[in-house]
Amino acid sequence: MTLTVPMIVEINDLVLQYGNVSESLPILSVPRWELQPNEQVAVSGPSGSGKSTFLNVLAGLLIPQSGQVSVCGQDLTRLGEAQRDRFRARHIGYIFQTFNLLQGYSALENVLLGATFSHQAVDHPHIRALLERVGLGHRLHHRPAHLSIGEQQRVAIARALAKRPEIILADEPTGSLDPGHTREIVQLLRDVCRDERCSLVVVSHEPTVVGAFERRDAFLTVNRAFASQGATG
Ligand code: ADP
Repeated sequence: MTLTVPMIVEINDLVLQYGNVSESLPILSVPRWELQPNEQVAVSGPSGSGKSTFLNVLAGLLIPQSGQVSVCGQDLTRLGEAQRDRFRARHIGYIFQTFNLLQGYSALENVLLGATFSHQAVDHPHIRALLERVGLGHRLHHRPAHLSIGEQQRVAIARALAKRPEIILADEPTGSLDPGHTREIVQLLRDVCRDERCSLVVVSHEPTVVGAFERRDAFLTVNRAFASQGATG
């Protein structure tokens, strides 16, 4: 007997357009895309190919005009906005290029706040362990302005993982870093996600980032909309 492991992400026949549907072309047309539990993938493609839009669909921030977007077994297209907000808070960690840290709070407080929004009991030892793990055990009480850019992204990684999400979505997570720090932060992100048993989707156009992953999905082959529009000019 073969056991089928449920996918962490399963997309079928996704079509998404911005604005007036009768006047605009689809930005995304993804017939099929999937990610297994604990799998890590770099989604690469040129600027404007719809990578951020795709990540926002996975996060339930955007709902497509048609298709299914199943995350952790839940079809996000069947949820209302408030349900999607709750689902995201519980299951999905997000890492941004610009970190989005709260400037008035310390590294520890920023990570604690990340866990608070998930509506679960805050696991203080886990949060301190995460900050140690990302190399910030000696910077717990520093505010973002007193941390380097690389340290700020380490805080953002710990914050995204603090609520024990099943999946991390990272949009150009090293876009603000120099090449040396890029390699280091990508490796850290991959290692911590693996340790925490969390799947990882990174979208990036940087070869250093993409090259660090075994699974690399070229977005031009995932997203038929961009490919067909590119072909017609
Ligand atoms: P990437 O992340 O690959 O650079 P994006 O997903 O940001 O691509 O954008 C894909 C396309 O969608 C671009 O042409 C962009 O101008 C357009 N776009 C992005 N966000 C919006 C929006 N909120 N409204 C209308 N068009 C948008």
